[in-house]
Amino acid sequence: MASDLPWVATPVTSLILRGGMVLNGRGDRFVQSDLLVIDNMIAEVGPGLRFPEGTTVIDAKGCAVLPGLVNAHTHAHNNLARATEDRWTLEDHISHGPAQMAGRTADEQRISALVGAIEMLKTGCTSAFDLFSAVPAPSPEAADAVASAYAEVGIRAVLAPSVSDLVFYRTMPGLVEMLPSKLRRYAQGLIAAPESSLRDLLEGFVRRWHGAASGRIQAAIAPSIPSQCSDEFMSTCVRLAREYGVGLHTHLCESKQQAVSGLGRWGRTVVSHLAQQGALGSDFVGAHAVWLTAEDIQQLGHLGASVAHNPASNLRLGSGLAPIREMIDAGVHVGLGTDGSATSDNLSMFEAMRSAALISRVRFPNRTDSWIGSDAAWRMATSASARVLGLAADIGALNPARKADIVLMRTDSIFTTPLNHALNSLVYCAPDACVETVIVDGRVVVRDGHVTTIDEAAIRSQAQAAADRLAHDNAGLWEAADAISPYLSEFCDRGLAAPFPVDRFAGPIVVTGGDSPMTEKL
Ligand SMILES: [Zn+2]
Repeated sequence: MASDLPWVATPVTSLILRGGMVLNGRGDRFVQSDLLVIDNMIAEVGPGLRFPEGTTVIDAKGCAVLPGLVNAHTHAHNNLARATEDRWTLEDHISHGPAQMAGRTADEQRISALVGAIEMLKTGCTSAFDLFSAVPAPSPEAADAVASAYAEVGIRAVLAPSVSDLVFYRTMPGLVEMLPSKLRRYAQGLIAAPESSLRDLLEGFVRRWHGAASGRIQAAIAPSIPSQCSDEFMSTCVRLAREYGVGLHTHLCESKQQAVSGLGRWGRTVVSHLAQQGALGSDFVGAHAVWLTAEDIQQLGHLGASVAHNPASNLRLGSGLAPIREMIDAGVHVGLGTDGSATSDNLSMFEAMRSAALISRVRFPNRTDSWIGSDAAWRMATSASARVLGLAADIGALNPARKADIVLMRTDSIFTTPLNHALNSLVYCAPDACVETVIVDGRVVVRDGHVTTIDEAAIRSQAQAAADRLAHDNAGLWEAADAISPYLSEFCDRGLAAPFPVDRFAGPIVVTGGDSPMTEKL
């Protein structure tokens, strides 16, 4: 992209954060330190730093100086659908996709992206891997609107249009036949974008946006869910990712339904199938990865693949408990994400860290050494997520020669008083409201808790207007998806009760209409 576009920041020549506190090596306490930024890079960290004349000075007393948190998995399009769901499974969520997304204008896609980007910045997140979508797929204009929104607000992002060439209902053999004729006509009337137009969309997006906004925006390839992709389209995605040297990110066995339907379709697990397609490698990111077998986990670790763990969304949708400890032990790079706000309610990485730590205790009640502690949760939200974004050398730590993505968080607030242990306070106690200043690529984008790059009040008002319009105009689609829900639930019960090598639920499966709980053991 041309460097004279209005949202390309003029780099700050030099900036110093004085008198703040950085984490010590063990993470148990803070030590007083200055931090000097030259242009968009961290130049020096230490006490009593000297700095060039003309340097902008920011008083960091009373603040922890932290690396910006990194969200390994989210969805820009979800933000306009925040709080529209309650007791939905993942399949209910996907089934309502047309109701939530159909007919959005490119500007509404932009507004949806901005809502999420603003929320992330205000909660101390400076980078995100965003798989944004639309029905049936984002137009090139909508994709550009989302990327422009991220560029404009000043956050760092890896962006990928999330696309598939198979309609959800047709990936569930027998479901459409269960529907009454009116609903069957609705389900059969939905169409996917043709493979050739998706290929053009992905290729054009990578060409236009990979490395844009002075390198702050990167592109990736995102076949949304393997079960909704033909083998030909998945192969195209793998080829494009390799050809352009960008990441390949997909939802991986998020629900048991997906894992079971993969077994039925390919006669092997989804991970084995992706391996056979050449999809797995150090550039591969699997989101959620709840229903993986022990062999799947070993294979991902062996191939140096990454996983984006989304604990709050997995809980919200009842998807199950992801085998995070096993993945970390097998050498899988496990970063942390929020997922979209329709399924996780917010994009707070602090909540994601706390959720990841707490959920780990459900799986291993008496093996405390297998729990995710505050140190592991912090690592997942910083350096490990940076690895998921393909930016391990650039972000996720406050070292010289890293990008200046920095968060100042007040530690002299009631929420962290008394400050007994630094990382425990950050992961378990620190509320988002303590984030005071956020710097991305050397530029101050949040000051005193307010975003400096955009008129937040105007965006909020436009988001409400867009959500109101969509709720009105898509009322018929909502009605159809709501009416399909009981049939979908009945259909999915078969998948939930089907034999599978592992059990990731915390309770037994009760089949609708049946009276005997069914469960499979690890
Ligand atoms: Zn997702």
